[in-house]
Amino acid sequence: MLNLPDREKVHRLGLMGGTFDPIHLGHLVTAEEVRIQYGLDHVIFVPSGQPPHKENRTVSEAEHRYLMTMVATITNPYFTVSRVEIDQPSGAPTYTIDTVRYFHEYFGKKVQLFFITGADAILEILTWKDYSELLSICTFIAATRPGYSLNKLKDTLGSACPETMENIDILEIPAVAISSTLIRRRVAEGKTIKYLTPESVTEYIFKNRLYCSINE
Ligand code: NAP
Repeated sequence: MLNLPDREKVHRLGLMGGTFDPIHLGHLVTAEEVRIQYGLDHVIFVPSGQPPHKENRTVSEAEHRYLMTMVATITNPYFTVSRVEIDQPSGAPTYTIDTVRYFHEYFGKKVQLFFITGADAILEILTWKDYSELLSICTFIAATRPGYSLNKLKDTLGSACPETMENIDILEIPAVAISSTLIRRRVAEGKTIKYLTPESVTEYIFKNRLYCSINE
């Protein structure tokens, strides 16, 4: 498979899931922090195809989100980007369980998988397709912004399904205070996004006239 790391060398693999509309420094800091703290051999960013839960906002074209993720991660040799979700037939929803099964198959059952994403997304995990299988085949790492109530995740998931929390780690990442929503809004309002995302992503956004109007 083009672009993916050598399967013989990968024993602990991070999968960084998100819409990345756009990718920003909070995402990059999260992935690097998890890579180091968890001793991961590699992190694969997986931009979502058509997210199954995003009905009230038009998400930017998958190809734009993929290319922004590519340019943002290009300088880190431990990061790559996968097209597995964005190459799904247009309009078909993509489910994390299918993505995780795909990488399990590709890297072999011996690989340990860590799925990294935002805590607010994980809060909804009990509604995800085949969530109990998902929790049994990978560890979830929920990135939170400072001030996020950790009890929110523990209370919501822990009371509904206590064993769920056994496979979810929570990691506070100060840089996650930056959000894609903030960047989209600032672009629409004509404000600077300097230092919120890599310069290459800023240039990509302006060159392709993304986020010209507010579309939450
Ligand atoms: P979202 O609902 O747009 O995001 C929720 C929160 O998490 C936002 O604050 C978001 O901030 C943050 N976030 C998202 N990805 C992050 C990351 N990788 N690192 C740090 N923070 C992150 O979530 P989403 O992006 O659509 O979905 C997250 C992942 O969950 C995706 O891989 C998606 O495919 C998966 N998912 C799967 C199912 C399913 O299988 N049924 C359902 C829902 C989600 P930003 O906006 O700044 O990123």
